[in-house]
Amino acid sequence: MSEHNVFDVTIIGGGPVGLFAAFYAGMRGLTAKIIDSLPELGGQLIAVYPEKYIYDVAGFPKILAKDYVKGAVEQGLSTGAVPCLGETAQTLTWLPEAGYYALTTDKATHYTRTVIICAGVGSFEPKRLPAPTVAAFEGRGVHYLVRDLESFRDKDVVVVGGGDSAVDWALAITPLARSLTLVHRSKFRAHERSVAALHASSATLYYPGYEVVEVRGNAHLEEVHVHHSPSGETRVIPAQELVVAIGFVADLGPLKSWGLTIERNSIVVDPQTMATNLPGVFAAGDVVTYPGKFKLIATGAAEAITAVNHAVVYLNPAARLDAGHSTNVMEKRERAAQAAEA
Ligand SMILES: Cc1cc2nc3c(=O)[nH]c(=O)nc-3n(C[C@H](O)[C@H](O)[C@H](O)COP(=O)(O)OP(=O)(O)OC[C@H]3O[C@@H](n4cnc5c(N)ncnc54)[C@H](O)[C@@H]3O)c2cc1C
Repeated sequence: MSEHNVFDVTIIGGGPVGLFAAFYAGMRGLTAKIIDSLPELGGQLIAVYPEKYIYDVAGFPKILAKDYVKGAVEQGLSTGAVPCLGETAQTLTWLPEAGYYALTTDKATHYTRTVIICAGVGSFEPKRLPAPTVAAFEGRGVHYLVRDLESFRDKDVVVVGGGDSAVDWALAITPLARSLTLVHRSKFRAHERSVAALHASSATLYYPGYEVVEVRGNAHLEEVHVHHSPSGETRVIPAQELVVAIGFVADLGPLKSWGLTIERNSIVVDPQTMATNLPGVFAAGDVVTYPGKFKLIATGAAEAITAVNHAVVYLNPAARLDAGHSTNVMEKRERAAQAAEA
């Protein structure tokens, strides 16, 4: 009997892939824990684009990211996984005497027989706008993440950036806002169709060559000052809300010191097993790389199944690799639970 509460699998990252891995691990009879540095489950879908539609997850012709996460969380926790939120995984040490790993976070030490890393792009932070006074208005009109579109209704809004996120937010906010101005310093990098839609919309576009140089207000944001470098002209845009979408800084951070094989901020895995170079440590989702990898939710879910099935066999070489159909497995579980209750 171990002196610790040792889990069969600890999943690092509670994004869509980690959540699906948690469900599948539980379905296969493993005890599972999910660790995420964010205070909420859902990964990029909740932190970066909760109000955007996803069109390419099987079974949903079109679904808001936040609604997808609702189902993913319900499913992910339905087979008993324990979530540990607001904790960043830091070190992983094999305990040879015990035959399992000690995984430390900034809050606790967890004990686990296997690990599935579903850490996406790592811990991510929006790039901050360097203009003076912007930081002082964070939470008072300056946003780096959009949580609720309704908060922009009937407001004067400025969006900064020229990539997909900036253009998509501008398109989503324009119909609700009193006015929308998009400020960008060079050419648009967003999808051509979105850029065409933006040009056809009622949004005012200040680009190329425009940059936000200052923001002003009192209790709340009131003005955004933009400078046009080629002409030297400065304009003052009345605005109560400023959405900055100029990208993210992502870093695998502490995971880089675990001895994993890493190529360009991604963990190298064997795509047949999703095993990393460390024994009992698997990975799935955006964090992995192998020839032909697609960084998508659907492919990450398939990788999670492969990782869990191989973790099952790693833990018990006599176990079946293939669980079969979920209908049979889950019905069997339900019958066993009913029998235990009776
Ligand atoms: C704007 C935008 C639109 C997109 N649209 C689509 C789309 O339409 N269809 C599609 O399939 N994909 C889309 N994607 C990509 C999709 O979001 C990713 O493929 C998906 O989120 C990957 O899931 P994941 O679980 O692997 O990683 P993530 O969602 O990134 O989750 C990883 C989690 O790990 C946590 N984490 C990282 N490091 C640590 C650590 N050390 N300790 C603890 N926790 C840690 C993070 O906090 C995060 O919650 C889009 C992405 C963006 C940015």
